[in-house]
Amino acid sequence: MSEKSFEDFRFVRPLQKAINREQYRTPTPIQAAAIPRILQGRDILGVAQTGTGKTAAFALPLLHNLAKNRKPSRAKSCRVLVLSPTRELASQIAERFSAYGRALNQRQMTVYGGVSENPQIKAMKKGVHVLVATPGRLLDLMNQGHIDLSGLDVFVLDEADRMLDMGFLPDIKKVIAKLPEKRQSLFFSATMPNPIVELADGLLHKPVKIDVTPAESASSVIDTIEQRVLFVEHSKKRQLLSHLLK
Ligand code: AMP
Repeated sequence: MSEKSFEDFRFVRPLQKAINREQYRTPTPIQAAAIPRILQGRDILGVAQTGTGKTAAFALPLLHNLAKNRKPSRAKSCRVLVLSPTRELASQIAERFSAYGRALNQRQMTVYGGVSENPQIKAMKKGVHVLVATPGRLLDLMNQGHIDLSGLDVFVLDEADRMLDMGFLPDIKKVIAKLPEKRQSLFFSATMPNPIVELADGLLHKPVKIDVTPAESASSVIDTIEQRVLFVEHSKKRQLLSHLLK
């Protein structure tokens, strides 16, 4: 299945061009499995780690669907909401949406804590197509009436198990309670502990389950990264590292 080509998905031209520009040749397994289903509007339960290409697995088909069904952005609203546990991840996801969607004229915004909320409030006034957010700041702005999720088309929850570890579950539940009944939901997690299974059950409607985690590994490090422990004198660390890199 991973021998599919990106051409098979028949993405709108600006997206196919972006894929060529990124020099992605073959879809990764999660991309091969998820992209056709997301294009069809199905809900997804993706068990996948970072490094598997999962960001493109949802960003590309969502950008395609937005481009095929253009609507002006509504005040304080977004059409796609991506929730991410940390500000760094949110920025990375937003950066990917910008890179893939550069020629699509979609308005996009990233909302996270630790910085002034004023520019975020101002940008949300007109509304955006894609909003990438961390849970705390999103809820803050929702509670103040600056963000309205009632007109949303797609909700993406990324790294759900990390959200749990970071204590975001109550916030996420509050966000989910404000989502419209009719929506597409995509749910990604590297592991599936019980509270995450329950969260997914409540959120997803007849999801397509995609599991690209090797069964024997419960950790969140991808297979292609080889790990070894080497004991070495502190003073020799640099030398050893340079030897290994060579
Ligand atoms: P992610 O798992 O979303 O964090 O992606 C990991 C990295 O893989 C990112 O740097 C992507 O740009 C890159 N990537 C995603 N899809 C592909 C692909 N089909 N071929 C090559 N690289 C990819």
